[in-house]
Amino acid sequence: MVSEDTIVALATPPGRGGIGVVRLSGDRALDIASGLIRFARLPLETQRATRGEFCEPASGRVLDEVVVTCFRRPHSYTAEDVVEISCHGSPVILKALVECALERGARAAEPGEFTMRAFLNGRIDLTQAEAIRDLIESRTLYQARVAAQQMEGAVSARLKPHKQALVDLIARLEAGIDFAEDDVPVEGWETILVSLEGIRAGLARLVESYAYGRIVREGLSLAIVGRPNVGKSSLFNRLLNEERAIVTPMPGTTRDLVTESANVGGIPLRFVDTAGVRETSDPVEAIGVGKALAAVADSDLRLLVIDTSEPWTEQDSKLLARVCPLGPLLVAGNKCDLPPQVSPDQLEKLLERVESERTGSEARSTPPLSGLERAGLARVEIVWTSALTGEGLAELREKILDLAAPTRGAGSEGEFITDLRHQQLLSDCLKALGRARQAAEKCVPHEMLLLDLYDALHALDEISGATTVEEVLGVIFATFCVGK
Ligand code: GDP
Repeated sequence: MVSEDTIVALATPPGRGGIGVVRLSGDRALDIASGLIRFARLPLETQRATRGEFCEPASGRVLDEVVVTCFRRPHSYTAEDVVEISCHGSPVILKALVECALERGARAAEPGEFTMRAFLNGRIDLTQAEAIRDLIESRTLYQARVAAQQMEGAVSARLKPHKQALVDLIARLEAGIDFAEDDVPVEGWETILVSLEGIRAGLARLVESYAYGRIVREGLSLAIVGRPNVGKSSLFNRLLNEERAIVTPMPGTTRDLVTESANVGGIPLRFVDTAGVRETSDPVEAIGVGKALAAVADSDLRLLVIDTSEPWTEQDSKLLARVCPLGPLLVAGNKCDLPPQVSPDQLEKLLERVESERTGSEARSTPPLSGLERAGLARVEIVWTSALTGEGLAELREKILDLAAPTRGAGSEGEFITDLRHQQLLSDCLKALGRARQAAEKCVPHEMLLLDLYDALHALDEISGATTVEEVLGVIFATFCVGK
């Protein structure tokens, strides 16, 4: 499906640089490039760098020395003829080069059009095209590794066995209907249900892997809460390894939110340092406190900082009660370099007490589990830290990742999905499989069951590419001797 247009675009970011690359793709790419660039020798060898001169069309004066690489279809990025012209990274030269290509009949490429052509020409599937976007947008090396795996087709490879099992089931049912008179065995309900469950279980694991995949792709936000002067800004700076938030010994100095990103274990982490949360009569500080509480609720994770060199206060209890129901919680017992007023044991007990007060009567009626366990929704982890000496900081980073992504490390880079679109389509597929199971349990005619199975297959198709009628027929003819 080679498009008729030959497209041209700047392939490197706009602005000045050592080199800039202009890329052409389409039937006329070589022809247009040869008209723009003077080469000592033609024709150009493919996949080889060739020196040339970019000359002003009117005067023939040399504007730049360039290096040209051409790729013959289908062995190119787009699977069309592609020419890449590297010249010096001057915006003026690059603009002139693109304009000259346009004058010679090329069309300016739309955003993403080179990759779209690679997809339309069948060189890559949709998941690979998405992975190219993710690779370019990656902010950490780990993200890049994950995207690179997906670019090689990891998502489609993971889907393949499940999709194949679904196509097999569809083919067996179709064959039973279409070739009933040819003695093709009709599938028993038990066999159908077993097949359905196998497909469902595999896909369900993939859907669940999105919880971690989302974090890998989008990063994570961590709100740091605590009453004033417990060391939030200091911890924030330590986690970022730089001075960002203002640290002062005066309570109530962080009046606004300070957000900064850092790479923690390959995952981009956005730290939100909230204003010291306390009851205040200062209207400016009150706005800060309001913003802090909103950020606390919105973030993926919360870090409650307490000052262990001071006795536990009523305000610590209030804060704890407020953040506990919001989800997993990390507690940093900070200033552990100073003589302690709160011991680890005491802290555990305090957290337990606050939690049971919060849940009130419910706590009294439930079995006597530890407060932290019972909270369930509120997994609480405690780390002893000193923002001054750096003690406990490595453990804190580890715990942040553990809490955010309990499944991390369970699989390699290719074993989880990172794209919301994939997650939603997989969920659609699972819903259709659920309907199919209900239908099978009621022993409805196979024709009806097939409707749900095709719905499930279409959802998978939308992720990586369509299953053709021929593929289904192929399975039928390969596995059944119906052509007798
Ligand atoms: P925030 O109001 O919670 O953001 O607290 P800051 O980070 O501004 O810290 C308040 C004061 O406590 C500053 O004087 C810090 O130097 C000091 N501080 C913070 N963390 C520690 C720590 O771990 N040990 C000690 N000894 N002092 C700390």
